[in-house]
Order: sequence, then C-alpha cells, then structure tokens
Amino acid sequence: MVYSIFDLFKIGIGPSSSHTVGPMVAGNRFISSLKQLDQITHTTRVRIDLYGSLALTGRGHATDTACILGLMAQTPREVDPDNIKLYIDQVKNNNELILAGEHCINFDMNDDLCFNFTESLKQHANGMKICAYDKQNNVLLCRRYFSIGGGFVLEESELNKQENEQINLPYAYDSARELLAICQKENMSIAEVMLANEKHLGDYEINNRILNIWRVMDACIKRGIKTPGVLPGSLKLKRRAYQMHQTLVDNSTDYIDSMDWLNLFAMATNEENAAGGRVVTAPTNGAAGVIPAVLAWYLKFHSKDDEQVITEFLATSAAIGLLYHRNASISAAEVGCQGEIGVACSMAAAGLAAVMGGTPMQVENAAEIGMEHNLGLTCDPIDGLVQVPCIERNTMGAVKAINASKLALQNDGLHHVHLDDVIATMHQTGLDMMSKYKETSLGGLAINVVAC
Ligand code: SF4
Repeated sequence: MVYSIFDLFKIGIGPSSSHTVGPMVAGNRFISSLKQLDQITHTTRVRIDLYGSLALTGRGHATDTACILGLMAQTPREVDPDNIKLYIDQVKNNNELILAGEHCINFDMNDDLCFNFTESLKQHANGMKICAYDKQNNVLLCRRYFSIGGGFVLEESELNKQENEQINLPYAYDSARELLAICQKENMSIAEVMLANEKHLGDYEINNRILNIWRVMDACIKRGIKTPGVLPGSLKLKRRAYQMHQTLVDNSTDYIDSMDWLNLFAMATNEENAAGGRVVTAPTNGAAGVIPAVLAWYLKFHSKDDEQVITEFLATSAAIGLLYHRNASISAAEVGCQGEIGVACSMAAAGLAAVMGGTPMQVENAAEIGMEHNLGLTCDPIDGLVQVPCIERNTMGAVKAINASKLALQNDGLHHVHLDDVIATMHQTGLDMMSKYKETSLGGLAINVVAC
C-alpha cells in the first residue's frame, strides 16, 4: 500500500513516469527475480513485449530505452541522464546487452523488443511482458508488469492484493473525509498528519529526504532555465525557458510579472523532463512542473521561512496526491490528463493553501477546486512526445492551482463539492473517456496537428 510522501515524490528521469520510470523499474524487478532463481548466467536471450499505451506512445516516451536500461541494472534514481545515449548506442551497435550489469547476452532492439500496437493486456492499459530463455530456448522466467502511473509498477499477482493490503499507521485514512476527521479530532494540520505517518523514519531523516526532493526539483528548474536549444524528437521544439528567463526582470514585484516567473519555473522543469533529464514525479513526470513551479513561485515572492514552508507544502500535497492514487488513478492511460495535470494542480493548490495559513477544510477546498476545473482533460500528446501540449499545460496547471487556493482561502471551508466526490467523478470520467484520449496519441491534438 502506498502511504508515504517518498512513494509519491520519486526522483527519476524524464520524460514519463508511467512509460519511462515504470518500465525501467520493471526491468530492475525482472533481473532481481532472475537473480533469486540463480538464472542470470544461464540466460542467453531476453524478449520484451509492450502492450496498449506502452506500445502506442512508447517510442516518444523512451519506453524501449527504459526497459533496456532496467535490464542492465540502471535505476531511475541513479542513472546518469548524460550517459543514457552511450549505453543505448552500445546495445544498438553491438547487439549486446549486459544483463544485470554482469552477464553479456545477444540483444537485437528490433527482434527482441516488440511494440504490440494492436494488443492490450486486460488488467491495465500499460502492460508489458519480459521473458528470459536459455540456450536451448527454454523459458527460464516470464513476468507481466503493469505500470500503473507515477512510476509505480505491479506484477499481475499484486494488482488485486494492493487494494486489500492494510498497513499500521498512526493516522490511517482512506478518504478526504477521514483525513479531515483526524485533523479535527487531533487538532492537527494535514501536513502534521502526513508527517506523523512518516515518524518511523525519525525527524532528521524525514526532514532530510523532503529537502532533498526539493533540491532535485529546484536543480531541475535551474538546469531548464540555463539550457537553450531544441528538444529531442520529431517536433524539433525550441526550448523556451532559457529565452523567457533572459527577458524577465529579477526584482520586479508586479503581480503579473510574478506569473511570468511561475510559467518559467513550470516550463523549465518540463523541458528538462522532455529532454530525459533528472526530475521528481509530482505525482507524474508529464505533470512534474506544476508543484515545483507553485512552490518556487511562493518561495520567491512570499516566503520567509523556506525549510518549514517546503516541508509543509510537500507534505500537504502528498497527503492529497495519495487520495487520488488510492481512490482513482494518476495514470493518463487510465483516466487521461486529468489524472496527471489535474492531480498535480489539486496537490499544488492544497500545498499552497496550507502554507498561506489555510485550515484543513480550506486546504481540502483548494484541492477540490484544483481538480474540479480539470475534469475531462484528455491526454493527446503529439507524436507520443511529452512536449505538446504537456509543457505548456504545466504552466496552466500551476496558474489554476494558485487561483484555486486563493478562492478557497477567501471562503470559510464550507463548500458544495467535497474532494472525495470530485476524486470519484474524475475516476468515473476517466473510465468513460474513449481510449483514444488516454495516452495513445490516436485522438485529439495528436491527430489534428501535423507532427513534422
Ligand atoms: S497530455 Fe498530459 S497526461 Fe498526456 S503525456 Fe502530456 S502531460 Fe502527460
């Protein structure tokens, strides 16, 4: 069961949490299962099959590269983004792969990695299968993995177990109503509840890890701002954050100018993500810019106590994000972009409302508004790249998050639509959405705009 801030905010690489980070994690899990069976050195061939959305947008989302890196024992957290091209070129040029970083096998990227464009696995839209064979072509191990969004990966046997699993937490909650009831009964903020549930780590560790998440987010913004040029892929999209930064005046206090900074922070993050750089899933990679942008904007223009603000903001956001993960989905292949940008907007709105002094009910209201006005948002990335509409969409999510928190803070917390109800609505809307609008690049902008 996912309950932690650090499950939701994961350090990884771009461009996609479900299509890059998840498949790399699946590759890691496969080699550790092979190791447990003591079959690494008996393996002579590995075959990877991608299904559904993983196949349809896999090339644009670097799913093939991610699977191979995972089998080579590279992890999303530790792989150096600057070395990825080198690793993949070696596999391509030599038709060889160093399985688990220790055993060389033949691997042909065209024959041993298959995009099954017309097939889906029934359990989830993001399915994949990895099989290992010995030299007599006997199957040593075959596993199916499902990348369920935000870099989370489950095996077939874990899909149902996850729903029933219980974990002992000081303040367990399954819904926003339960979370608010805890806050009221214990006289705690949402962030305090969330942090109490991490208590087993110890205060120093919690603090350190949260600040490290922010350091990675902040470094991503800074790299994005400093990097000119063109993003990888068929669109030849010019990076805009670099130029935007050149034109911004650092000491302006004008509110409208401050929105330019917000846009800049979101764009810088998602250009880095599109370039395969180091990012934090928040709660996904496609939507990785919303939360850092709103937090960076608040720190730049409003904050005095940075560390406390960062902790409260991220802990509150995570508490809200976990509700979506638990009761709906953060996978665009399941529910469209409302599950990515919509959830990020809702989380950021909650975080901002909290650091601006909102009560738990106002924070819940902000999160609800943040999602309510993203309902129905489709996922239709052009040419399967996490670039258009994704990069700009992060700026829109950030702007909406600020407005959602301002609306909530002007209210007393009492409101018509409860967060639980909007989460259920988002989920239902996603299930009803036609699959061509769910990370397949078969509908919407993806077919109405010419890619080249
Ligand atoms: S359209 Fe939204 S959900 Fe789809 S890839 Fe882009 S950011 Fe992710």
